[in-house]
Amino acid sequence: MATRIGVLALQGAVSEHVHALENSGSQVSLVKNIGDLEGLDGLVLPGGESTMMRRMMDRYGLFEAVKQFAAEKPVFGTCAGLILMAKQIEGRKGPHLSILDIDVKRNAFGRQVESFEADLAIKGISEHYTGVFIRAPYIKSAAANVDVLATYEDHIVACRQGRFLCCAFHPELTSDPAMHRYFVQMVNESR
Ligand code: GLN
Repeated sequence: MATRIGVLALQGAVSEHVHALENSGSQVSLVKNIGDLEGLDGLVLPGGESTMMRRMMDRYGLFEAVKQFAAEKPVFGTCAGLILMAKQIEGRKGPHLSILDIDVKRNAFGRQVESFEADLAIKGISEHYTGVFIRAPYIKSAAANVDVLATYEDHIVACRQGRFLCCAFHPELTSDPAMHRYFVQMVNESR
């Protein structure tokens, strides 16, 4: 059976992720309710607005369900999705899913720099990757067992911890399939 990856589709950049995953050889379905997680091999948490996405997850009963899913299966969080995965969020009392050993700062590149592109070297993925940053967070620190994959101006912007992958930028907004291919491969290897 082909690999099936779900994209959390409550809010944010969904359809671009779907296309990028399909182009990387995976079957893809949208996750809007608990039942949609059934039979999935991996899950993408897209960019958008983390506080809003959390509210919607609570409303549809998806918060606990996604946490349980993540206890076994690979998850890829991009931008707001990364914030949802972090164990610590600057200025916020509690984390959300709290599955990835990183400490993040939201809207970290300043209000003047709402969005920008940067040429990134991503370890094991691409020597030159155009990162699209939109009101992006960065990772202030990561636990020793977190593999830092990319930095920008000395800040961590992509990392992997076992079955969890995350990046502060929007890989679905570039035509470069490298990040999605890498995640599909992670999911294939975990099956
Ligand atoms: N600033 C958003 C947040 O804090 C994330 C932005 C994004 O996903 N592009 O949730």
